[in-house]
Amino acid sequence: MKFPSPKPGFILFFVFVTIAGRGQVAAHYDTAFVESLKKQALASVDNKAKPVQEMVDMVFSFGELGFQEFETSKYLTGVLEKNGFTVERGVSGIPTAWIARWGSGSPVIALGSDLDCIPKASQKPGVAYKSPIVDGAPGHGEGHNSGQAVIIFGAIAVKELMERNHLPGTLIIWPGVAEEVLGSKAWYIRDGIFKSVDACIFTHVNSRFEARYGDPGYNGMVSVQFSFDGEAAHAAAAPWRGKSALDAVELMDVGWNFKREHLKPTQRSHYVITDGGDQPNVVPSKASVWYYFRERTYPDILSMYEAGQRIAQGAALMTDTKMSFRILGAAWPPHFNKPLAEAMTANIGRVGMPVWTDADQQLARAVQKLVEAPKVDFEDGTPIDGLRTTVDALKGSVPFSMGGGSDDVGDISWNVPTIQLFYPANIPGTKGHHWADAIAMATPIAHKGSVAGAKAVALTLIDLITNPALLDSAKAYFTNVQTKDVHYVSFITEKDPPSTFLNKATMDKYRDQMRPFYYNPAKYKTYLDQLGIIYPTLEPAAGR
Ligand SMILES: [Zn+2]
Repeated sequence: MKFPSPKPGFILFFVFVTIAGRGQVAAHYDTAFVESLKKQALASVDNKAKPVQEMVDMVFSFGELGFQEFETSKYLTGVLEKNGFTVERGVSGIPTAWIARWGSGSPVIALGSDLDCIPKASQKPGVAYKSPIVDGAPGHGEGHNSGQAVIIFGAIAVKELMERNHLPGTLIIWPGVAEEVLGSKAWYIRDGIFKSVDACIFTHVNSRFEARYGDPGYNGMVSVQFSFDGEAAHAAAAPWRGKSALDAVELMDVGWNFKREHLKPTQRSHYVITDGGDQPNVVPSKASVWYYFRERTYPDILSMYEAGQRIAQGAALMTDTKMSFRILGAAWPPHFNKPLAEAMTANIGRVGMPVWTDADQQLARAVQKLVEAPKVDFEDGTPIDGLRTTVDALKGSVPFSMGGGSDDVGDISWNVPTIQLFYPANIPGTKGHHWADAIAMATPIAHKGSVAGAKAVALTLIDLITNPALLDSAKAYFTNVQTKDVHYVSFITEKDPPSTFLNKATMDKYRDQMRPFYYNPAKYKTYLDQLGIIYPTLEPAAGR
């Protein structure tokens, strides 16, 4: 391996450390040298504000649902290849999944963020009322369009410094394909994609700027489709000769809704009927219902999953139909690494919140009024009034959680020391998974929040690359604290394929209508410019 050569003017002290179990030698760097790297990284990310804005706006304009992120992945991997990364496509049997690698040797740091968007959430950015770009089409009503810019430009800034200073280390960038259906990360783990990874930085859009460690209080989940097979018949002339698969779906739903009384209050379960038959005069021979079963711990999720199977079997018995089921997604409740969260939090404090303009705050307050945002935050009781202006303190495991959403980064967090960075690119007090959550996501709020996130990523990468003790303590926490008593067992088996068929019909329906609205950065400075939106537009023009 090459040894780092200090920049002129800096004295570099090496301490050779043998990383336990790996037999590799890592260098420990002088604090003045590390500080100089950090200053250069911050300046470098600031210089990348324009490409950050372009990437945020571009991915926003693609508006692709889970497993159908073809334009998004083509664009992102193109940018990564132009910047010297080697890209492997179609990983885990998922056409839109890929892994981009750069560098060599230890440490191996993975950086990830989600790609996909929300059904029926198409929305013009920067306008504080409902105004879809394409009516009925999907849109970034969660804000996943911003996360890849955060990791890619944070990583590129550090890669440039590593090249210039001959610092060893490997950077791996991966996409959270189909996060909204919890569809990829458990498969990446199953297929060994994170095997050689020392630590993982995951980023997710938020209105806060923070990192947490331990159990943040999310639910884990399994996503399962139950299908029933019956017998068609003329629904008026010979209904006694039919066996209704739709009856089975309805009876399963009734059964599950009775079951709720006897589940812990931390559970969340919900379903949609994905196939309810074709038309009323044909007894439905096929019907399907898609469930999410969420709970706080692996045993409780498993117990719900098994109860769901029994209720489905009962519905099949009642209707004389046949039942089959398929797992479509899975997520462990996450646990984040303490030493990495501490390092990230120090860097967040150094970066600080973006400087919001009056226009940013006006839009935020107008959106909060639009969605009837609560006056105070559900979690910590802080007031909800415009954009947040202070970074959050480091928080550890919650003593108790009422449960809530899930992210399949949980599966990664139980296999590699992992941290989640929340960067401040959206408006507090929104509902989530809603068109109004897209309003800020191609505006200066998202652009500045993503630059701030990229800086925190870059600084933490520098810590990981220059300080082997940080990685050692991250691994010690992972082994001696996090996984001491809890052992990861995947919800999926070798036989479960990724559900790459999901959302195809919806994207096929809307893609041609959406294409004319893809962002063209050669012609327009921003996506707001391309759409002719004055920022912010708080009310519809008169006469609309
Ligand atoms: Zn998300």
